[in-house]
Amino acid sequence: MARNYAVVVHYGELWLKGRNRGSFIRRLNGNINAALKGCKPRIVDERDRLLVYFKDSKTTEKGIQNLRFVPGISWFGRVIMAKNSLPDIIKASNGMFDKKDTVRIVAKRSYKGTKFNSYGIVSEFIKKSRNLGFKIDKDADKELLINVTKNGTMLSSEKIVGLGGLPVGSSGKAIVLLSGGIDSPVAAVYAMKRGLDVAYLHVHAFRSNKEAASSKMKNILGVLSKYSQKQKVYYAPAYIFQSATIKIPQKYELVLFRRFLYRLAEEVGRREHANAIVTGESLGQVASQTIGNMTASQHGIESIVIRPLIGFDKREIIDQAKRLGTYDISIKSYKDVCAIGVKNPSTNMGSELVSRLYKSCDLDNVLKRTIKLMGESD
Ligand code: ATP
Ligand code: MG
Repeated sequence: MARNYAVVVHYGELWLKGRNRGSFIRRLNGNINAALKGCKPRIVDERDRLLVYFKDSKTTEKGIQNLRFVPGISWFGRVIMAKNSLPDIIKASNGMFDKKDTVRIVAKRSYKGTKFNSYGIVSEFIKKSRNLGFKIDKDADKELLINVTKNGTMLSSEKIVGLGGLPVGSSGKAIVLLSGGIDSPVAAVYAMKRGLDVAYLHVHAFRSNKEAASSKMKNILGVLSKYSQKQKVYYAPAYIFQSATIKIPQKYELVLFRRFLYRLAEEVGRREHANAIVTGESLGQVASQTIGNMTASQHGIESIVIRPLIGFDKREIIDQAKRLGTYDISIKSYKDVCAIGVKNPSTNMGSELVSRLYKSCDLDNVLKRTIKLMGESD
C-alpha cells in the first residue's frame, strides 16, 4: 500500500460557536494554509476535523512544526489512511509501532455505513494478533486510535497538543502596542490566541522608521509571525513627543506618553478597521500600571483596551515569553523610548491633570505631526 502523509487537525472550541461554525472552519482552513505555505498542503474538511495531506515526509515534519503555532487547533497528529475494510486497516497498522510495543486499540466510527462496527475492528486485531507488528493489551498506555470516516479509515498513534483558542480573525482586529520589552509580545500572542487579527504599532527612539524596522523589533515580529502570517507594522518616531514634553516635570511624562500612545493607536485603528487596543500591561507591575494611571492614560479612548496579562506576575510573563520564543530577543539591549520618566513617576495622576498637560504641550498637534511621519511595513 502506498504510504500517505496526512495529519489530522482537531479544533476544540469551535464546536461552541453554533451557527458561525462554517465561517470559523473556513478561517482556520485559510490560516493553516498560510502557516503551511511552502509545504503545499491539500486540506480536506472532514466534518468535525481537517485532514492535511502533504507530499512527502520532509514537508510533513515541517508542517507539524508550523501547526504548533496556529491558534484554533486543539490537537493534531500524523495519521495513516486506510480503505474502509478490515484487512486494509490491519495492513495499515503495520510499521506504526515497534515489535516490543504493547498497544491498546481504540476504535470508533464517525461514519456508520460500513459492514463492520468498532467492536468488529477490535476483534479483528485480536484475531490477527500473532501477525501484527506489536502486542495488544487493553490496559496498555500506548494507543492505536482508529476512526472510520466516509472517505476512509484513519489510524493514528500521536496526539500533539495545539495552541488552543480560536482562529486568528474570528474575533475581529486589534492594534497591539508593541514595545521592545518582554511583556507586549506575550500579550500579542494571547490576543491572537483568542481570535484577534492584529496590526502592530511601535513608537521608537531611532532617527528613522527604517532603522527601527531593522532593529531587534524585526526579530520579535519574526517570532510573532508564526502565529499569524499577515502582519502590518506601524513605526512612529517619539522625538516630536519628547521635545514637546521636555519642560514638564519628569514624573508626569510617563503617563502622558501612555495617553499619547493610546491616541496614536486609536488613529492607526481607524486606518486598519480595528476597534480594540492590546497592551502588555499588568496590574501594579510598574508605576504607570496602577488603576489610577491606567484610567488617566486611556481617558477619551473609545476602543476597548485589552490587557491580556493583567493578572500575571512578572515571573509568569517571563516563563511564557521563554516558551513562546520571544524572551531572548526581548532582553537584548534596546534603545527604548520607555526610558521616559522612569525615575519616580507619579503613581496616581488624575485624568484632569493629564488632560491639562496634554493641552499645554499641544499634544494634539504633536499627534498629527507624528502621524505624518509614521510608516508601515509588512
Ligand atoms: P513591555 O515589557 O511590554 O515593554 P513594560 O513592563 O516595560 O512592558 P511599560 O513600559 O509601562 O511596561 O509599557 C506597557 C505597555 O505599553 C507595553 O506592554 C506596550 O503594550 C506599550 N508600550 C510601551 N512602550 C511602547 C512603545 N514604545 N511603542 C508601543 N507600545 C509601547
Ligand atoms: Mg517596556
